[in-house]
Amino acid sequence: MNSKLLLSRALKKEFLSAEEGQFLFENTPTADLMWVANELRQMAVPGDVVTWQIDRNVNTTNACNANCKFCNFFRHPKHADVYITDIETYKRKIDETIKFGGDQLLLQGGHHPGLGLEYYTKLFRNLKSLYPQIKLHALGPPEVAHICKIDGISHEHALSELKKGRDG
Ligand code: SF4
Repeated sequence: MNSKLLLSRALKKEFLSAEEGQFLFENTPTADLMWVANELRQMAVPGDVVTWQIDRNVNTTNACNANCKFCNFFRHPKHADVYITDIETYKRKIDETIKFGGDQLLLQGGHHPGLGLEYYTKLFRNLKSLYPQIKLHALGPPEVAHICKIDGISHEHALSELKKGRDG
């Protein structure tokens, strides 16, 4: 493999394989990678101004039955410290986010055995009706898989309903 060839393919927006990506990672000076990344960024968003999105992480609940060994965040669903974030807390945190120029909420949390599709679609609708301008970047694949498991529904159905809720 050859770094220069791979970089020129990347500049033509050709997909690289995982092995080619690893080769670049291990054999290409960071400055060259940065240059190519900036060229690709210029193609997508021309101009010299690079921006970013201000968002805030808010945990939906700390109750979780996944028991990941590395996790110091979760509590067993019957633990006394379990919480489910209430609407007043969401409102306070979103108001603070907006005050600091934020426009997105990253919602994540534990696998609560009692919180299924209805809970999350209702929550998303509620948040969007209160804050239509806020984007919901909500739930990762394990959380969606958990919802499907406890409700006995397909991933496709869950994602489509969650998306409807997220879109208000
Ligand atoms: S699923 Fe998330 S919250 Fe639950 S134990 Fe694992 S890392 Fe912690």
